[in-house]
Amino acid sequence: MALKTPLEYVDSLRRLKIRAYVGGEMVDNVVDHPLVAPHINTVAKTYELAHDPEHRDVMTAISHLSGERIHRYTHIFQNPDDLVKKIQMLRLLGQTTGTCFQRCVGLDALNAAYAVSYEIDQAKGTDYHQRFTKYLEYVQREDLMLAGAMTDPKGHRAKKPSQQADPDQFVHVVEQRPDGVVIRGAKVHNTGGINSHEVLVLPGTGLAPGEEEFAIACAVPADAEGVLFVFGRQSNDSRKLEGSWDIGNTRFGVVGGEAMVVFDDVFVPNERVFMNGEVEHCGTLVNYFATWHRANYGGCKGGNADVLIGATAKMTRILGTDRNAIVKDKLIEMIHRNETTYASAIGSSALGYQLPCGSYMVDPILANTVKQNITRNVYEIGRISHDLAGGFLATMPDAASFEHPEVAQWVRKYYGANPEYDVTERIRVGRYIENMTSVTTMVEAMHGAGSPQAQRIVMLGLADLEGKVKLADEVIYGTDDVPGLALPPVNEPPSSDGSDL
Ligand SMILES: Cc1cc2nc3c(=O)[nH]c(=O)nc-3n(C[C@H](O)[C@H](O)[C@H](O)COP(=O)(O)OP(=O)(O)OC[C@H]3O[C@@H](n4cnc5c(N)ncnc54)[C@H](O)[C@@H]3O)c2cc1C
Repeated sequence: MALKTPLEYVDSLRRLKIRAYVGGEMVDNVVDHPLVAPHINTVAKTYELAHDPEHRDVMTAISHLSGERIHRYTHIFQNPDDLVKKIQMLRLLGQTTGTCFQRCVGLDALNAAYAVSYEIDQAKGTDYHQRFTKYLEYVQREDLMLAGAMTDPKGHRAKKPSQQADPDQFVHVVEQRPDGVVIRGAKVHNTGGINSHEVLVLPGTGLAPGEEEFAIACAVPADAEGVLFVFGRQSNDSRKLEGSWDIGNTRFGVVGGEAMVVFDDVFVPNERVFMNGEVEHCGTLVNYFATWHRANYGGCKGGNADVLIGATAKMTRILGTDRNAIVKDKLIEMIHRNETTYASAIGSSALGYQLPCGSYMVDPILANTVKQNITRNVYEIGRISHDLAGGFLATMPDAASFEHPEVAQWVRKYYGANPEYDVTERIRVGRYIENMTSVTTMVEAMHGAGSPQAQRIVMLGLADLEGKVKLADEVIYGTDDVPGLALPPVNEPPSSDGSDL
């Protein structure tokens, strides 16, 4: 069973009794809801490509636990090559679906919990890592989709979890029992939560002594008692209900189908608890997760941008502008920005280093640089796409106009451009560009894996500015030249008191 087929994934979801609210209504089964189905279809591709011999090397890996071939989305990174292959997998999936395929948060959360449960055990003699390894065996065997749930609602942003007027603004333990814990709170922006088998709950921030109740890491089945999902809206989502050709990406979602997941006093048995009160390890947990996750964006957004660049290049052909040198140069700029972030993601993976548990972490400053660039390059790539596609992106008529007995002749005539292309092609490609440059997509690039400031803080911390000052001093004031070289003579500058002027 280690590699589910797409149909097995859908059937396994159908068997869960997920309590989900979409558009203000509780749904009977998420699989049958037309606003959720495109997101399920996107995830199904991750299962499908793992069975394709052409992609087996990037889509699958050998489990270090069982020795079996498993999905790369359930794998613990064993070496830098695993990290590189992950980025390659993300680019492939981005190219195939043109959107977010949702399983990355769960993968990085799995790796973070694996690494930190080991470190807690080493420091405290607990048995979290053993529990987690058993859970991981189950996830790998069943090829489960995991939602990673870190981001708390957070309430007043200037206050810590223990200072909030409402303690539920951060997921916390409300009852310790001999056989487990009861948790309360919510996690927001949860990618793929509504169509996942399991939710892996991790703290979303560093914590201090006195905040032990918030230091909880655990795995909860998506249909556990007390768990409920409230599905978010996305740009243009209700267009999917029209069943029209005029909606751009008809088969897949726009970003990951995010939801709020509420834990309304959920009991979690001990075997699914991987941290319970160890506040001093929360910072490391958040940091490990975020670092892996920030590198990802050079892969997934790289694949998405490949499709957007393709759509934009096609639009220039439809408009008849494709041979113009300035138009070509703008496409080059899109490619340049996209390959820059991909190169950093590959670089941070290739320079990965080993953690105490034996798994591999990406190079942190490069990973944070990837995500920082994503917060700009995705916008810039979208801006150029808007520029090249023209104002009709914001004003084009809908499908009904092309079927209307009176106006069809006019919209066909006046929205047509290069006669080699049917006018509806211009609309379809335009709608795709509209979707993939919408607020939803851009905001994911901005805030997913942490808002820009989060990366800048890490970058400053890791950049070793003092070391760089020393490097500058050595180059400017250094005297380590090869003896006997005819270097030009250099005068000393005047002294600061001007006495030698
Ligand atoms: C599409 C999408 C998918 C996501 N998927 C997941 C997921 O699957 N799982 C998950 O756990 N999370 C997910 N996230 C959450 C993501 O990690 C967060 O959006 C990100 O960490 C920022 O948190 P926030 O949205 O609550 O921003 P806010 O906290 O509301 O921040 C808004 C702004 O305020 C600033 N700010 C916040 N606090 C302070 C302060 N004290 N002082 C000064 N400035 C401050 C921030 O830097 C930012 O500029 C997703 C987000 C998006 C948009």
